[in-house]
Amino acid sequence: MKSPNGLLAALGTTIFTTMSALAVQHGAINLGQGFPDTEGPADVVQAAAAALLDNRNQYPPLTGTAELRQAVSAANRRFWGLDIDADRGVVVTSGATEALAACLMALLDPGDEIVLIEPLYDTYLPVVRMLGAVPKLVRLQPPSWTLPRAELAAAFGPRTKAILLNTPMNPTGKVFTEGELGFIASLLQQHDAYAICDEVYEHLVFAPARHVPLLGLAGMADRCLRIGSAGKTFSLTGWKVGYVSGPPSLVGVVAKAHQNLTFTTPPNLQRAVALGLAKDDAYFAALAEGLMGKRNRLGAGLRDAGFDVLASDGSYFVIADFAAFGFAGTDLAFCRHITEHAGVAAIPVSAFYEGDAPTHWIRFAFCKQDSVLDEACSRLKRLRRAVAA
Ligand code: PMP
Ligand code: GLN
Repeated sequence: MKSPNGLLAALGTTIFTTMSALAVQHGAINLGQGFPDTEGPADVVQAAAAALLDNRNQYPPLTGTAELRQAVSAANRRFWGLDIDADRGVVVTSGATEALAACLMALLDPGDEIVLIEPLYDTYLPVVRMLGAVPKLVRLQPPSWTLPRAELAAAFGPRTKAILLNTPMNPTGKVFTEGELGFIASLLQQHDAYAICDEVYEHLVFAPARHVPLLGLAGMADRCLRIGSAGKTFSLTGWKVGYVSGPPSLVGVVAKAHQNLTFTTPPNLQRAVALGLAKDDAYFAALAEGLMGKRNRLGAGLRDAGFDVLASDGSYFVIADFAAFGFAGTDLAFCRHITEHAGVAAIPVSAFYEGDAPTHWIRFAFCKQDSVLDEACSRLKRLRRAVAA
């Protein structure tokens, strides 16, 4: 029999699913896959419930309901001062995951090169490859995740079509500075290239760090597709409502990709997300402040348990070095070990690299109740003591 698609057949199950399954198997606290353990805002959930019962359950418009496209456009202006056309500059997708695939489809022809920055989110490379495009990988320099400017410049060439930029970044928690973004913008102009900006954590940034969308920099409005996720912004990760904002010239092509991927996204959730995006500033400030407290809490607890904890300025995540545990195996082996023996699951950072990768870092999600974070840290501390004894 002929084989199915070779690339997909060879691809492993995502690390997030693997570690969540292991956590369930061992009854472990799951600080692996990034999802909050409390509900999102009650008014947004209530709006979705009401919208299910208002007899508007048929296909919504291809690019999204008018309410949500207007809300996305208004949020672009309110939070980032961006001018996005609600009718022609927004496409609503089924999660940022679909938005990423649709943007990559919209920009890349087979043979085009795309610059990607490691460590990277695990859907990027498979989709780039399925499109027959050529990834050019550049690694940030740990532990402060510095952008190696000369290497980045060298990764651009005459065949570069785009860069895929994730800020705030998963798994590092890095928030790209305006200076770094300015450097990327100059490369895009020099090489006539586009940017897909994965900004799903746009509202999860910890002061004094500040999120800056590349799309807002001089000369970038026609070159950038900016992706947001209601799942992250409203702590409702299962909802899978994403949105792409950008110039109509590009967004129109993203809509063509979307029409062939899912065509539309559930109208009820779209209407609830529109209400959510219009929430007052206090909601967004409390979201970031609450998570910053959790970052601090988990960071302190992990340090106390013997980890070296790296800085995180945004997202749900913090990276820790487990060298002090005296564990001989890889990061994947360590994650399995702590899931089984401490009852705490995490994600190996090597999963965010292709090929040779550092193997002494693991990623913890801190979007959990304080009591859960505290219990996870005391379990890890007990394990460390047991190992040291
Ligand atoms: N990009 C990044 C960097 C992410 O961490 C996630 C997390 N799920 C996504 C995209 C996908 O978002 P969504 O759940 O809206 O598809
Ligand atoms: N983005 C989430 C994370 O990084 C996981 C999403 C998923 O499981 N696909 O943990």
